[in-house]
Amino acid sequence: MSSSVNIVDEIKSRCNIVDVIGRVVTLKKAGANYKGLCPFHNEKTPSFIVSETKQIFKCFGCGESGDVITFVEKYYNLDFKGAAEMLARDYGIDLTGAFANQGNKKELYNINREAARYFFKALRAKDNPGYRYMAGRGISNDTLREFGIGYADDEWTSLTDYLTGKGFDPKTLHELGLVSRSDKGRYYDKFRNRVIFPIINTAGEIIGFGGRVIDKGEPKYLNSNESKAFQKKNNLYGINLAKNYISKDDCIVLVEGYMDVISLYQAGIKNVAASLGTALTPNQASLIKRYTKNVILSYDADNAGQLAADRGLDILYNEGLKAKVLKVPEGKDPDEFIKKNGRQAFAAAMEGALPHGDFKIDRIKNKYDLTRDDQRSACIDEAVRMLAKLKPVDADIYTAKLAKELNVSEGAIRRQLGTAAESGPQRPPDDSAASDIKTEMISKVETTLLKLITLDKRYLQLPEDVQGHVFKSPAGMSIYRAIAGMTDGVYPLTMDALSSTVDPDYLGYLDEVLDTAISPERERQTYDECISFIRKKMLADRVEDLSSQIEMGEGILSEEESNKLMTELVEIQRKING
Ligand SMILES: [Zn+2]
Repeated sequence: MSSSVNIVDEIKSRCNIVDVIGRVVTLKKAGANYKGLCPFHNEKTPSFIVSETKQIFKCFGCGESGDVITFVEKYYNLDFKGAAEMLARDYGIDLTGAFANQGNKKELYNINREAARYFFKALRAKDNPGYRYMAGRGISNDTLREFGIGYADDEWTSLTDYLTGKGFDPKTLHELGLVSRSDKGRYYDKFRNRVIFPIINTAGEIIGFGGRVIDKGEPKYLNSNESKAFQKKNNLYGINLAKNYISKDDCIVLVEGYMDVISLYQAGIKNVAASLGTALTPNQASLIKRYTKNVILSYDADNAGQLAADRGLDILYNEGLKAKVLKVPEGKDPDEFIKKNGRQAFAAAMEGALPHGDFKIDRIKNKYDLTRDDQRSACIDEAVRMLAKLKPVDADIYTAKLAKELNVSEGAIRRQLGTAAESGPQRPPDDSAASDIKTEMISKVETTLLKLITLDKRYLQLPEDVQGHVFKSPAGMSIYRAIAGMTDGVYPLTMDALSSTVDPDYLGYLDEVLDTAISPERERQTYDECISFIRKKMLADRVEDLSSQIEMGEGILSEEESNKLMTELVEIQRKING
């Protein structure tokens, strides 16, 4: 990475941003800065400012901003490397050595590709134990080809001979973990008599291999060493094939093993990938986040698998993903299950996957004998510690659920939760903490308005000016949309009527909504109060927004523009105070 930092410095010092942007946007001098029509949104009057002194751009219309490299990335739709290369070419900057690591990596990928070809050919060439094994597990030729599955034979130096014969240095092969080295310094094949699964990244490069033993040998699974080309923690098996399906379905099914991925994929569940090893890593979670926020964990049904799922949930949650756990109803793993019961049954199991909090509560409940008071109290303690790690809105939802399931009052849990939150550093660091607090503050209004909406259809149509500003929490928004979409509701709406339309994730919160008490004679007044609260909140948000624009634009905005912002700010403050 240090070389990338140097590239940034080098490019920034050599490429004047006014020059670079000036090639595609007509810029006019405005005070110390330049101004033009924003290339990232449609506008008739210029709000796109380029500061020559600061070497940055900012659009006060759409908010796009950054330095010269960001501009090139965004405007020409390039990644960082592409943008750097384009600028280097145009300005005669020598990037030799800057991406040196990349060059070395390329050679490693190249070797892996040769090895993968060799293994693949061996599996397809003649009758062999690898092919028989995969055919016996019901894997079709098409699937073998799509995944590039291969076979490493029983000899000691087949691959070593093949690759060194192609001129590759055995030391590099050793570094990649394709060959091992004896005490006497002889090189020999690491993978022998195994089915070989090439591990391919999202860019289509073969970064490593997994090998499954065919007879009873140990270890059952063997992976490539960690190397410059292969870092387990950064990759997922199958992601190269699955990524488009993951985006399309807006969901990923995460499994444990190679065979799970292959069987599910072959059966038509194509948005599937496996963590390489049982423990999911934060890097893998952020890789997933590029394609979707919704994860279904389908790990083995045994204790180890369920524990791994439990930990995986925390990792995913901390990365801002929404995860559920699918418990395979019978059989040990997803591979066996889908083979026995087919795609439909698996899809049904996906529908029934348990949301994060429900899974956790279930697991905690199962540890204790709830008929005994002391155990019940210990169970509540553990559950509260779990709730304390959740974001406020989620904690809220599961507080209600937990109270019901353990037959204690919500108030008691909330009080205990209050102490747990104060005493512990449990809550993971979270960059969206600020917005959570906002949601928490407004959630009372959301809850109250939702309750009113379930009481009387009149309240469903919100005043035009507040639309889009009322329901900020996913739970509130989802329930509001569900009610708005109902055509045959009988008011007041009940849990019975709503439970089939509302997202099961949010039924706990819905329960709380329905429990909210509003006296009939105060309904209208409560509604008006909520709407006026939201209007005030909108004004406060606008003030914040304007202030930061004025601050940000200091020295960048023209006097006329600053004045415009200031005038609006003063008007709003007058409104708030009046
Ligand atoms: Zn813009």
